[in-house]
Amino acid sequence: MTILYCARWVLPISSSSIEDGAIAIEGNLIADVGTRASLVGKYPDATVRNFPDAAILPGLINAHSHLELTARRGFLESEESDFMGWLKKLTVARLELMTPDDRYVSAAWGATEAARAGITALADASDGAYESIKALSDVGLRGIVFQESFGPDPRLADDNFAKLIDKVGRLAELETPLVKVGVSPHAPYTVCGRQLELISEFALTEDLPVMMHAAESDAEVMLLREGQGTFAEALRKRGIKWHTPGLSTIQYLKRHCVLQTKPLLAHCISVDNADIETLRESGARIAHCPKSNAKLGHGRAPFSNFLNRGIAVGLGSDSVASNNTCDILEEARFATLMARSEIGGQRMLTATEALHAATAGGARAIGLAGYTGELRAGLQADFAAVSLAGPHQLPSYDPINTLIFASSGRDVVLTVVAGREVFAAGQVTTIDEERLAARMKEIAVKLGI
Ligand SMILES: [Zn+2]
Repeated sequence: MTILYCARWVLPISSSSIEDGAIAIEGNLIADVGTRASLVGKYPDATVRNFPDAAILPGLINAHSHLELTARRGFLESEESDFMGWLKKLTVARLELMTPDDRYVSAAWGATEAARAGITALADASDGAYESIKALSDVGLRGIVFQESFGPDPRLADDNFAKLIDKVGRLAELETPLVKVGVSPHAPYTVCGRQLELISEFALTEDLPVMMHAAESDAEVMLLREGQGTFAEALRKRGIKWHTPGLSTIQYLKRHCVLQTKPLLAHCISVDNADIETLRESGARIAHCPKSNAKLGHGRAPFSNFLNRGIAVGLGSDSVASNNTCDILEEARFATLMARSEIGGQRMLTATEALHAATAGGARAIGLAGYTGELRAGLQADFAAVSLAGPHQLPSYDPINTLIFASSGRDVVLTVVAGREVFAAGQVTTIDEERLAARMKEIAVKLGI
């Protein structure tokens, strides 16, 4: 059976935009892309779905999320004066108060928000990966869930590594054609050098994707360069020995074999030209998270430079505790404005480049290039339809400019993953949204919000 999805615009990303276009879907794959007239002629028996005021584009890719922390939205706003305090509050709330079912509900609510915003694939870092994988699968999204590993104390590196192997072993049974497992040594300040090496070797042997937070804050730079600052103090207080490497984060990750895994690195704010060259040479990918970086006061990653050097860059929301929404169209607008706001910047980043990062670039960044991120025959049928008819969007002279400069995830009217409509007619079709909303309210009461 063929279904034709027709729209005012079809934006394949890998080829020119098509006015009055259509895509033909057969099963979980894109069978054809063209003008409406040509496809209606070619597939006369197809079921036709019309979106006359919308643009159909590849499903948006969220290159960095923490769906399990969705219940923390609005929890961490202004009272924490430093990143360390922020992380502490988050960690306590995460570990001590939430049951496995709370984490599942939190992740499923996050996945629901993503589906409503036209996001079809996520690279999700999770301490409770078991629940996050189930949540993504139940909502029907594509993704890689990276089981996080923590442990700054070198004396515990082998134990922590053994725990990670055990967890990853149990996750394997949950993998589906849509949802895969990866590993994530959390960050340079929470995982010691030896543990980074053990995890990297394991990932290379088992062919597992790796993601890590990198070069995110000044506190991280101070720890790695000088052995000072809030992270250094916290390690000292816990009696953990720290040998200051005197390196940037990127060179430190190279020394400890992480870059050999071609990791997906979230943030990459504190990077100089030598670091960017090292990233390019190693084949590392970047999740650019401009809103989270701004909200936490961490600064701005050199997005244009990454693109100029041909590095694979996707856009990430990070957790909604630091964002506060999981909305990649909004992230793309913010990324463009932030890049343009640099005085004396090299050039004006275009809406086309931002939309590329939100789709094909994101797919490349999370290792799904050739499966999703573009509209062309043979790829997975992952796409979204975004209304262009809102008062905040009209008049629209160019669909890509309207999408990036005047639209958000709230304008999405249809989300399809592997041929399945997961969001249509104002409803997520795969789960009971009302029940989830009620459970989220209960969790919020328990967490004291
Ligand atoms: Zn993160």
